[in-house]
Amino acid sequence: PLVLGIETSCDETGVGIVRGTELLANTIASSMDEHARFGGVVPEVAARAHLEALTPTIEQALETAGIALADVDAIAVTSGPGLAGALMVGVGAAKALAVALDKPFYAVNHLVGHVGADLLRDDEGDLELPTIALLVSGGHTSLLHVRSLTDDVELLGETIDDAAGEAFDKVARLLGLPYPGGPHIDRAAASGDPAAVRFPRGLTLPKDLEKHRYDFSFSGLKTAVARHVERMRDDGIEVPVADIAASFREAVADVLTKKAIAACVDLGVPRLLLGGGVVANARVRELAAERAAAAGVSLRIPPLSLCTDNGAMIAAIAAQRIMAGHGPSPLDVAADSTLPVTTVQV
Ligand code: ATP
Ligand code: MG
Ligand code: FE
Repeated sequence: PLVLGIETSCDETGVGIVRGTELLANTIASSMDEHARFGGVVPEVAARAHLEALTPTIEQALETAGIALADVDAIAVTSGPGLAGALMVGVGAAKALAVALDKPFYAVNHLVGHVGADLLRDDEGDLELPTIALLVSGGHTSLLHVRSLTDDVELLGETIDDAAGEAFDKVARLLGLPYPGGPHIDRAAASGDPAAVRFPRGLTLPKDLEKHRYDFSFSGLKTAVARHVERMRDDGIEVPVADIAASFREAVADVLTKKAIAACVDLGVPRLLLGGGVVANARVRELAAERAAAAGVSLRIPPLSLCTDNGAMIAAIAAQRIMAGHGPSPLDVAADSTLPVTTVQV
């Protein structure tokens, strides 16, 4: 089926067009620049930007795919989780399109979409299920056991405070690096010593592992970095940005990959899929590859354009549902900012 997917859960206005698992267009407009001076995504600004960007982004995606709107078999949209106002723009537009074109409407879970992004790559063999999936972005840090992309996703664990990307952004800020901080920390870390400071690994003590085996926590780490930097400044020592960036990045990459591989081993699922913007991180990729190989786990990392928020992954999930014979979502589905990942069929 030819599906147009709309994604507006955060700061990317994404419109994707797929035919089954074939990627025809993946057009993105980002309002990132407008949030930079606030040091984080401002919900009102994001919603307004979606409203302005959506029509031109749809037009551009259609042009790239070389199709007309009337050719589309179904309209898909992220209905949650995400920023409420931002989601509402996409959901409203998708419903209007579906009604106007008399096409079926599919509401898609954003996190399931991130897993489905892997279906669209043409550089590797097919995604095999079940798989463990680690989704790490500015808003999410979730470890999933995915048995089916159309109806069976289990949440193994998630962050109990900050998301991994959020931690990168906050630590970048206190090191005086620009927003979004992830890429800047990654770059600074390249010339630093990851063993310079042993920062805490959240929720990895034996007592934590009982209740939070697959959960994450990054706010303690962020505080530890802040204290360390403050102490140096108080003592008049110049802050070694590269060493701190490298040590912080090491702590994040260590916990993320250790828990993800542990889930693969514990559950006997020898496959790990990564998704979300933090997957761009060089050390996360390197350590994931190293540990996956050591544990006999096959690692999949889609290209970055499919890892970050996009509409194509949303269209891909709707296409899976159509191919599995599932009917459309009711037109009264509302945007749900806290939609749980286990709600696979919205
Ligand atoms: P959502 O959480 O809803 O998916 P988002 O816009 O926060 O939305 P992405 O666009 O997937 O998510 O990812 C952006 C995040 O990824 C930011 O927090 C950014 O700092 C982080 N990031 C990007 N590149 C890197 C990198 N090289 N290393 C670490 N973090 C990175
Ligand atoms: Mg983003
Ligand atoms: Fe996302």
